[in-house]
Amino acid sequence: MNNETFDSLKQLLSQPKKIVIVPHQNPDGDAMGSTLALATYLNKFEHLVTVIAPNDYPKFLKWLPESDKVVFFDRDNSKANMLIDEAEIIFILDFNDLHRTGDAMAKALENSKATFVMIDHHQQPEFYTEFMYSDVAMCSTSQMVYHFIERLADLEKIDAAIATCLYVGIMTDTGSFKYKTTTSTTHRVIAELIDRGAQNSTIHNQVYDTNTYQRLQLLGSVLKNLQVLPKYNTAYMYLTEADKQAYDFKKGDSEGFVNYCLSIENIVLAAIFIEDKAQGIIKMSLRSKGNFSVNDFARRHFSGGGHINAAGGRSPSDLKSTIKKFLDVLPQYTKALNK
Ligand code: 5GP
Ligand code: MN
Repeated sequence: MNNETFDSLKQLLSQPKKIVIVPHQNPDGDAMGSTLALATYLNKFEHLVTVIAPNDYPKFLKWLPESDKVVFFDRDNSKANMLIDEAEIIFILDFNDLHRTGDAMAKALENSKATFVMIDHHQQPEFYTEFMYSDVAMCSTSQMVYHFIERLADLEKIDAAIATCLYVGIMTDTGSFKYKTTTSTTHRVIAELIDRGAQNSTIHNQVYDTNTYQRLQLLGSVLKNLQVLPKYNTAYMYLTEADKQAYDFKKGDSEGFVNYCLSIENIVLAAIFIEDKAQGIIKMSLRSKGNFSVNDFARRHFSGGGHINAAGGRSPSDLKSTIKKFLDVLPQYTKALNK
């Protein structure tokens, strides 16, 4: 965002506004961390601010400050539609394509007359807003929200609640500060957030050490079906509806499973296929190491997208045919996967 555009956004925010802030469907730590942090910040002024999530998010994020005020588009549909209809400004955070909010919510957003502001770090934006802060080099949208507040010369307004939300977003999207996108600036931002009240050790504990016994059993069953394809430096696993039922699957339970594939020596491409009977699809999570772009891979073959090393996609076919399709396209990438 150039200085002129930024100044007019600042001007717009200088008067009380009805504001809606939206994360993507199946919100993750960065989506909820960034939206709740921005909402808490904007609520320090005279604005009327609501976070509207397309659908629910995992329990390990439910303790986030202001989490109890989130409106869910699928559950509280008429309220959500009314808020979107009345909004003067809509912030879309951690996604860059309205369809990432689901068909019904995308339609509601498309019909809105609000001024849109995007803050996002995903590849290839599909939606253009009047105010757009898009940076694919950023580790997380939460770090971008920090820089946004910094640019508004308001770092002093970052309290413990905001710091906690931003810390969670940065921590989860960087795999606890280990992915390549983690820079020295990220660590300086994190240091500042700790100084402003983010309890780092408690936060790690609340996100990562609150497993249920059932979830670990579910992980066990998924690890048993993990397959390694040495020829393609690829590993994949799958999660069936039967396993979900057997282990009392809850939203977020499969978060991070795909990383076990990527932790195997020499693996460049990792995938998990998750049966979703309710949506009638197979949801895929893809991860990679180095220059192999799972964003391109997911876009080309599985109607998805994301980042170079972390992306998602979907398939309308059943589990068996989806895995077969995956195996069938791999030979096209033999070279890229063996660099
Ligand atoms: P995850 O595998 O954790 O669901 O998602 C990995 C990354 O890819 C996240 O940044 C997420 O926002 C993005 N992503 C996941 N699924 C999709 C999808 O269907 N389409 C697009 N464009 N991005 C996705
Ligand atoms: Mn993110």
